[in-house]
Amino acid sequence: MANKGKLYIIAAPSGAGKTSLVKAMVESTPHVKVSVSHTTRAQRPGEVDGVNYHFVSTEAFQKELGEGLFLEHAEVFGNYYGTSETWVREQLAQGEDVILEIDWQGAKQVRRLMPDAVSIFILPPSLEALRERLIGRATDDMEIIDRRMAQAVSEMSHYGEFDYLVINDEFDLALRDLQTIIRSRRLAIGWMQHYKADLIKGLLN
Ligand code: 5GP
Repeated sequence: MANKGKLYIIAAPSGAGKTSLVKAMVESTPHVKVSVSHTTRAQRPGEVDGVNYHFVSTEAFQKELGEGLFLEHAEVFGNYYGTSETWVREQLAQGEDVILEIDWQGAKQVRRLMPDAVSIFILPPSLEALRERLIGRATDDMEIIDRRMAQAVSEMSHYGEFDYLVINDEFDLALRDLQTIIRSRRLAIGWMQHYKADLIKGLLN
């Protein structure tokens, strides 16, 4: 176990700021990588294939699913999403920590398969703040906003299944919370034995 990275699951309703927080987290912390999921949903403006997601057809997704290539998968809002198992296991074996940005259904599957995974749920500070953030996202169609709000509330109802809860009111504080969770896990003996092997060896010689 000594040279293994830790698996983190991070879930949140759309509009809670999860993606920005995870990006800042990865940029500020060595040895943390984010898994790039496969999805059948359409690419949004500004998204890059292979960076935000691997955008694939439903046929290609089903084929990979049939071949057992996904650690977990789920249908979210009518589209399929899945996490590549090989990539995740390779990173963990190399001692890298891996973050999965997935929904509650995927989180449930991963917890069952890898009970050591640490799961974090990010909540917005209020429904009003969530609504404002969703409205800020390029659409004024109130019907769509209402639907997204309902989906967000449904996702949030699963918060109690997670190990940690982070409230994204002030970005910097929420980022600090995430960093603290990961930092505390890195003081665990397995991680220290791997990354501080020389120091420990020197002390005991
Ligand atoms: P979006 O399409 O807005 O990027 O993501 C929609 C939802 O799908 C989010 O809750 C996101 O966390 C989730 N999601 C993204 N990738 C995966 C994945 O690989 N597996 C699962 N189960 N959910 C995912």
